[in-house]
Amino acid sequence: MSSVIKRNLEDLTVRDFMIPAEKVAHVQIGNPIEHALLVLVESGYSSVPVLDIDYKYRGTIGKTPILKSVMGIERFEMEILSEKKVEDVMRKDQPTITKDTDFLTCLKVVIDHAFACVVDEGGYFVGIITRRAILKEVNKSMYL
Ligand code: AMP
Repeated sequence: MSSVIKRNLEDLTVRDFMIPAEKVAHVQIGNPIEHALLVLVESGYSSVPVLDIDYKYRGTIGKTPILKSVMGIERFEMEILSEKKVEDVMRKDQPTITKDTDFLTCLKVVIDHAFACVVDEGGYFVGIITRRAILKEVNKSMYL
């Protein structure tokens, strides 16, 4: 990366390319996984954030772990969809960032994750950054 490109990207923080919470599809931690699957299929996303009733970030949930959790030996046991809760299936080990996180840290995060959740000092969910938004910024900086 040339020094001009690097300097331009280094000036950015999460607040410059974050998708704000009100535009992000999410599910509640206490919902049945059936509801989460509906949100995922309807939105077209493979994974979305999980929040609690106070709007605090708790993890993420994806289609594949939901389908795996209802997979029997010979068939999908669809009745399990209404029995299991989001918290039984969600991932809790995803990295989070803050509005002040710098661009190069975000770039490293989205190498392994399609998106990352942004939280404030209290752990409240404020938005996400996506691999697409990061790539757009890299692309823009190439034409400076
Ligand atoms: P993208 O880089 O735009 O393909 O987004 C990467 C991932 O971020 C998607 O597959 C979703 O899991 C998640 N994502 C992107 N936009 C949203 C949104 N508005 N609401 C919820 N999840 C999203």
